[in-house]
Amino acid sequence: MGFAALYPSYETAILASPMADNDDIPFNRDFPLKPGVAEEARPGVRRVLCNNPSPFTFTGTVSYIVGRGKVAIIDPGPDDEAHAKALLDAVRGETVTHILVTHTHRDHSPNTARIKAATGATVYAEGPHRASRPRFESEKHNPESGADRDFKPDVEVKNGDVIEGAGFALEAVATPGHTANHLAFAWPERKINFVGDHVMGWSTSIVAPPDGSMIDYMASLATLERRPEDSTMVRAIYIGLDPRLSGAAGYSVLAHLEDLVARGIVATDGDPVIGGNYRMAS
Ligand SMILES: [Zn+2]
Repeated sequence: MGFAALYPSYETAILASPMADNDDIPFNRDFPLKPGVAEEARPGVRRVLCNNPSPFTFTGTVSYIVGRGKVAIIDPGPDDEAHAKALLDAVRGETVTHILVTHTHRDHSPNTARIKAATGATVYAEGPHRASRPRFESEKHNPESGADRDFKPDVEVKNGDVIEGAGFALEAVATPGHTANHLAFAWPERKINFVGDHVMGWSTSIVAPPDGSMIDYMASLATLERRPEDSTMVRAIYIGLDPRLSGAAGYSVLAHLEDLVARGIVATDGDPVIGGNYRMAS
């Protein structure tokens, strides 16, 4: 179940478009933000786009500033001095009391060190980066290159914890999948969710085992019945995919297969890995 389904009345739109549940999801790629310029997305929520566009980050990472006067910054972004400066410029004359991090990917958490050094704010996150499961010996690929292993929060946050500041109270919502330590931050009073990479409006969120794992269940069984090899499945499931994202899509397919193998619905020879052959379990 996705976040939008869990919280249907919440506004995930700052962060993501509603997801359609048919085969052809209409992604919203209309995103006119300029890097480095703070924009008030909603009353009490500013956002600043980092200049790190890529097939994985779309136009770039978006950092959020919550509140006025005494503020929280959510996801300070990649190791990027210009983006840190843009965030600090946006809050000039204000006090940053909190830094919240949704997850430990290199496009979301490394700049935390700069913002903390400049502001002395307390850093909140679920914990340091960790894999969703140990690596299989037969696994040759390593999706962990995107992990920020240097990150460590000041305060480790659990599902349901409320992080209170001046004029805001954000509730941590455990959303493992994209990474094991992924949190969303809900602001119930404003009906706003900061969903990190749990839901993305412009593309499908990647789940790359062993970094991530399939907590939300989305079966691709019909495809599997027709097409037993994972690389063929990727082409069948992600129609019209940007070729630069085929490796990422392969990991997301693997995450589903791993889940289906664990449930005994799908069989494979050996461990479920990229390049394996998969069949319906009899
Ligand atoms: Zn991520």
